[in-house]
Amino acid sequence: WYCQRRFRRAAKVTNVDRALEYFDTALPPVYGSRWPSIRLALLSKQKYVAVLNNFADHEPIIEELHDLGAMDIKHKYTSMAESMKTVEATKMKLSETKECVSQDQDDQEDAKPVRPSLIKLDDDELAARANRAPLDRYPEEYRHRALAQEWCCPPRLEDVLNRDFQGLEHWIEETDVFVDTVQGDEEIGLKREVQKVPFSLPSMLKIFSFGKGDITTFPKPKLDPHMKVLTHYMMDGASLLPVLALDLQPGERVLDLCAAPGGKTLLALQTMLPGLMVCNDLTDGRLRRLKSVLKQYIPSNCSQIQDSIVLTERNGCIPWEREAFDKVLVDAPCLTDRHVLKESDNSIFYPKRAKERLKLPELQSELLVSALHMVRPGGSVVYSTCTLSPLQNDGVVQMALSRIWQETTIDCCVVDLTPAMRPLSFLYRLGSNLGLRYGQILLPSLLANFGPMYVAKIKRLK
Ligand code: SAM
Repeated sequence: WYCQRRFRRAAKVTNVDRALEYFDTALPPVYGSRWPSIRLALLSKQKYVAVLNNFADHEPIIEELHDLGAMDIKHKYTSMAESMKTVEATKMKLSETKECVSQDQDDQEDAKPVRPSLIKLDDDELAARANRAPLDRYPEEYRHRALAQEWCCPPRLEDVLNRDFQGLEHWIEETDVFVDTVQGDEEIGLKREVQKVPFSLPSMLKIFSFGKGDITTFPKPKLDPHMKVLTHYMMDGASLLPVLALDLQPGERVLDLCAAPGGKTLLALQTMLPGLMVCNDLTDGRLRRLKSVLKQYIPSNCSQIQDSIVLTERNGCIPWEREAFDKVLVDAPCLTDRHVLKESDNSIFYPKRAKERLKLPELQSELLVSALHMVRPGGSVVYSTCTLSPLQNDGVVQMALSRIWQETTIDCCVVDLTPAMRPLSFLYRLGSNLGLRYGQILLPSLLANFGPMYVAKIKRLK
C-alpha cells in the first residue's frame, strides 16, 4: 500500500508540469537555440527593479541603494540614447546622399492593397477540418506553410482534439489567419511608422536596477511616517517597457484597460504626466487589489493626483467611450509564462481551464479592437503581454488589425519600436531576428532575468 501510494504521488502531473510540457513543445520551433537559456531563466529567480515613490521622502533609500551598488537607470539610459541618436543622425545623412528612388517603385506603391481576411468557418467546414487532424494528417502544403512561418503549432494536437473540440475551433480560425497572411506589408496595406528616437524616460521616474548578472536583492519598502506611504516598490523590470512605449505627455487622458493589480498604473502615475488616469479591470476582486496598491503609494490627502484617478469595473472588450483617450494600455491577460512555471495554484494550465486558455487570443484581440475604438485619432494603443507565445503576441495584433480593416473605418499604423528599444540593451535581453512583424519582445536570460514581455504599439490615424 505504501509503495502504491508513493508511486501514485510520483506520477501526479501538476499544472507546472503541464505548462512546461506545453512550452517545451510550442516554443523551440520559434526561439530555436535560444530556448534552453530562456527556459533556464524562466525556472530561475526573477529579477526586479526598484521604483521610487515620488510621494514619499525617498532620499534615505537612494543612499542605501547606491551603497548596495544599484544604478539609477536614467544615467545609463541617457548616455546610451545619446550615442544612438548620433548613430541615427549619421545613418540619415548617408541615406539622404543615396536618394535615388526609382519611378518603378513609386508606381508599385500605388497598387491596391489586398488585405488578409479573417476566415470564419461554418460548422460543416469546422467538422471537416477537425476530422483531418491530427496535425500530421493536415494537407502537406498547409502544414509546411504554418511551420515555415514559425507560428506556434499547438502542442499535442491529438490531445486537444480528443478532449476539446470547441477549443480547436479557435485554433483553426487563428491559424488560418496566419497561414493566409504570407504577403508583405504593401500587399496587405499595412502602414508602418518607425520610432527612430529612443524612448524618452520621464524626468520624474526614478528607477534603480542592479547591473546585468548582479542578483542582489533590494531592501524592503519602508513607510514614510509623515506621508503614510511606502518609499519604493519592486517590479519586474520588463514592466517598464509598455509604459515607456506609451510615450506619455503632460495632461494626457490615459486608459489602462486591464489595470489590476496595478503595477503599470502606478508606474504611469509616478511619471506625474497623466491628466486623467482611468484604471479599468473586469472584476471587483482584482480592482480591490489595485485600490490597495494605490492606497499604499498615493497619499489620500493629495487631492490633485487622487482627482485624476478614476476606477472602472467593465468588460474591456466592449468600448464604452469613443475616441476619448490619448493613450490606451492593453496589458492583456495571457499565459503568464513565468507565473505558470512557478505556481500550480490558479494556473491557466489547470485542465478545467483549457477552454479559457484556448480562447485567450480571441479575448486579447477583442480587447485590442476595443482599445482602438476608444483611443482618439492621433493617439496610440500599446498592447503588451508577459508570454512568449507568438499566437498571443504578433498573432493577436494581426487578428485585431484584420478586424479593424474589415469591420470599421478606423485607420491605423503599426509603430516600429526597434530603434527606440536599442538603448535599453544595457538592461534587457532584446529578442531580435525572431521574425516578429508587429511588436518587440524581451527575453528572459540569467544575466537579465526580466520578462518575458511583448509590446506592440499601434497609432490611430483616423
Ligand atoms: N496591468 C496589470 C499590472 O501591471 O499590474 C496586469 C494586468 S493582468 C496581466 C490582466 C488583467 O486583465 C487581469 O487583472 C484581469 O482581471 C483583467 N481582465 C481579464 N479580462 C478582462 C476584460 N474582459 N476586461 C478588462 N479586464 C480584463
